[in-house]
Amino acid sequence: MASTRSSSLHLFNFRGVDVFLHWSWFLVALLEINWNGGRYSSPTWNVLEYLELFLIVMLHEFGHAFACRQVGGIANRIVLWPLGGIAYVQPPQRPGAMLWSIAAGPLVNVVLMPILFALVMMSSVLELSQSTPDAHKFLVMVAFINGVLLVFNLLPIYPLDGGQILRSLLWFWVGRARSLMATSIIGMVGVAGLFLFSYLTRSVWNGAISVFILIYCWGGLRQARALLLRDDGPLDGEARARLQQALAQSEALALVVRFRERLKAIWQNAATGPDKAVAALEQWCCEAETSGVAALEQFARRLGGWRPATG
Ligand SMILES: [Zn+2]
Repeated sequence: MASTRSSSLHLFNFRGVDVFLHWSWFLVALLEINWNGGRYSSPTWNVLEYLELFLIVMLHEFGHAFACRQVGGIANRIVLWPLGGIAYVQPPQRPGAMLWSIAAGPLVNVVLMPILFALVMMSSVLELSQSTPDAHKFLVMVAFINGVLLVFNLLPIYPLDGGQILRSLLWFWVGRARSLMATSIIGMVGVAGLFLFSYLTRSVWNGAISVFILIYCWGGLRQARALLLRDDGPLDGEARARLQQALAQSEALALVVRFRERLKAIWQNAATGPDKAVAALEQWCCEAETSGVAALEQFARRLGGWRPATG
């Protein structure tokens, strides 16, 4: 993912995890702040709202990264971009390790929920909605965004966290290949629902997210097929027979090619040593007639009919 790295700004390193910000984040930040301009009396609050979204997403990704390390995996990079964050986690290939690495992200949002709810309650008690309505609206929005992120991430659509949690759970019963296959198929159905939702809400943004998920879902399906071939050896009797036949055919072809090369060499040497060439041709015909390749045997018999009489 060198391209992501080169198009991202390195922000900081926390406990060995490098945090990058993709350039497109600035573009979308500008658009978002403009779109939601009317919510507050000052655009400063819009900027704060977008930064808070960034902070929640980052905490969520750190949840993934640290959980992954806890189970012995590798996690040293987080990239934040407009469609959320990506923690580059490589948990060990075990369902339990995978489950914890993925579930830890949404768990951060779960932990944040009562804290943010308490802040909103405090703001209500202190009547901030009267004295500083922007601050109250901001706190409500923070709690709302955290809730939306949690619900969205838990949708059982691969590769969203919900889809990956489902995959880890299925892995315990049906193995890593079939669990990925099942989750990718469920994900495809979910993506169709997301496209419908995007159409109904006329949201280009939701459409973009749907396309992004579709690409990953498709990748999951292809990976599952490759894993199935490698892990479970799903070749049934018929497929195995076809494979054997193909291998046998290619063997015959290789044999024919070798005979052809030998014949060519005999022909080329015929001018310099005719006697040797006749003996070599004799030998060639004898071997070709018993090669087991019907076409080659037939050709050798015809050639034998033309060979010079040796006495
Ligand atoms: Zn996540």
